[in-house]
Amino acid sequence: MSTSNATVDKLDVVAVAPHPDDLEILCGGTLAKLVKQGYKVGIFDLTSGEPTPRGSLETRVKEAEAARFALGVQVRVNLQLPNRVLMDGPEARFRLATELRRYRPSLLIAAAGRTPAASPDHHQGHLIAEASRFYSQLTKWDERFDHTAPYRVPHLVYALMPTDAEQRHFHSTFVIDISETMEQKLEAIRAYESQFDADRFVKVKHFISCANGYQGARCGFMYGEQFALPHPVGADDLYKLVHGGKGALVPVQLPGRDHLPLN
Ligand SMILES: [Zn+2]
Repeated sequence: MSTSNATVDKLDVVAVAPHPDDLEILCGGTLAKLVKQGYKVGIFDLTSGEPTPRGSLETRVKEAEAARFALGVQVRVNLQLPNRVLMDGPEARFRLATELRRYRPSLLIAAAGRTPAASPDHHQGHLIAEASRFYSQLTKWDERFDHTAPYRVPHLVYALMPTDAEQRHFHSTFVIDISETMEQKLEAIRAYESQFDADRFVKVKHFISCANGYQGARCGFMYGEQFALPHPVGADDLYKLVHGGKGALVPVQLPGRDHLPLN
């Protein structure tokens, strides 16, 4: 297990996905933005991501560290669960829940979705993250969690796989404006040269820019990343809810046009 910054003992946000490069692609712009906003952020990779056709364990570790640096994220932990055959089960849950109990984040971001044309690890990672959040709070099981204290992560947010197989109804989808950190996101993805050589990166950059451009356009941002909650948004003041920030209910403004009501 590797930790990039051992001096950080509590995190505000932890993001979890099976492979190094998943979170950069899904929500790298948001992670970089959270750091800029003053939060302590950790990336937890469930597996090394290896073997892959062009990678190796050594190169993948270096690439993951370079990507962490590009995003400014303070901590990166690799749980060393098995790539390609990652399965939700008690041992995987204990491992992730132990790290949640150690770092006690207020928010868990879980890569979510089923990708039938890509690795089945993604769906399993989604299940492991949800179950581990539940396990981390359990009492009278401390020996299963390296004798860490029970801790409940208050909030769970899904970072949505763009190629999810389901026509799924996620509660409460929303988009974070990543216009200011889009370049950092692309730099972090480019760090994975074993996965995206120069030719492949041109295509990847195009597809990611299109996807984030589309999500941003829905809310009036140049680039955005989509998320969802496992429950409806709760609020007691409708007015403050819609005026509380650059949210989806703010009218979209495009150059030369006023308040185009795309929402
Ligand atoms: Zn992946």
